[in-house]
Amino acid sequence: MSIGVITEPAFRLHQMGAHHPECPERLDAIQNRFISSRLDSVLLYFDAQEATREQLLAAHNAAYIDQVHALSPSEGLAWLDGDTAMNPHSLNAALLSAGAATQAVDLVMEGRVKQVFCMARPPGHHAERGRGMGFCIFNNVAIGAYHAINHWGLERVAIVDFDVHHGNGTEDIVAGDDRILFCSSFQHPYYPGSGADSNVANIINIPLPRLTDGAAFRDAVSERCIERIEDFAPQLIIISAGFDGHRDDDMAHFNLVEADYAWITRQLFQLATISGEARVVSCLEGGYELHALALSVEAHLRVFLGE
Ligand SMILES: [Zn+2]
Repeated sequence: MSIGVITEPAFRLHQMGAHHPECPERLDAIQNRFISSRLDSVLLYFDAQEATREQLLAAHNAAYIDQVHALSPSEGLAWLDGDTAMNPHSLNAALLSAGAATQAVDLVMEGRVKQVFCMARPPGHHAERGRGMGFCIFNNVAIGAYHAINHWGLERVAIVDFDVHHGNGTEDIVAGDDRILFCSSFQHPYYPGSGADSNVANIINIPLPRLTDGAAFRDAVSERCIERIEDFAPQLIIISAGFDGHRDDDMAHFNLVEADYAWITRQLFQLATISGEARVVSCLEGGYELHALALSVEAHLRVFLGE
């Protein structure tokens, strides 16, 4: 069976300045790797559609959604925070990136494909209910999860975030909602500084020190996350797929490699197969060293082919 990929030329028009690490070339690197590795032949491409206001409201408050629309510039850059800018195309890209997550949920729920990768930007996991930050405008994975719950009637959705940064935005939105289990592994102490002291039943945070390697990462995830997800029996697993913990990525200080991303993907794929008919939606978050990003995404997706 094919793997779905949702993407859109508009994702490349969102730019935050000449040397910003969250750049359109990230998607080019992934796309080029799909072609050169011939993974392309098993990918089924879909265009993204914009998220509706109703879908956004499941994860964000109206005042913030209005603020993003009001801030959208007709020229130049407007800044949501010190790291996160909008150019004239960013609002459209952000709506499409959030919409891609909901559309990915539709595709797996309709059974058209079992797994979908949202090759989208801006990323989303730092965006809180009422605040964008850390390169993120709307929280794509939370919007996808609530679409699965509100539109498809799912009762249990797991969100797993293996980006090197804590998914503070996702935690902010889903904390206390027992229909969602959120698991985030991240470098700590590090940006954004949250997550080490969360004490909410549906949140599993795994803070890990700098220089964490694959063995330590696998041990921590195995001990603290896998069984909890198995007990939760999610009907759908949504991945905040950030690859900035790669040893070649100098955005942070983990020493993960492609095989580690394949490992955690395999764990999640097995869990999804047990309880959720192998339904997995993966949304791109971080990953800034272009070569490592492209190879890691390839390794991540090849797991779904049984490789
Ligand atoms: Zn990150």
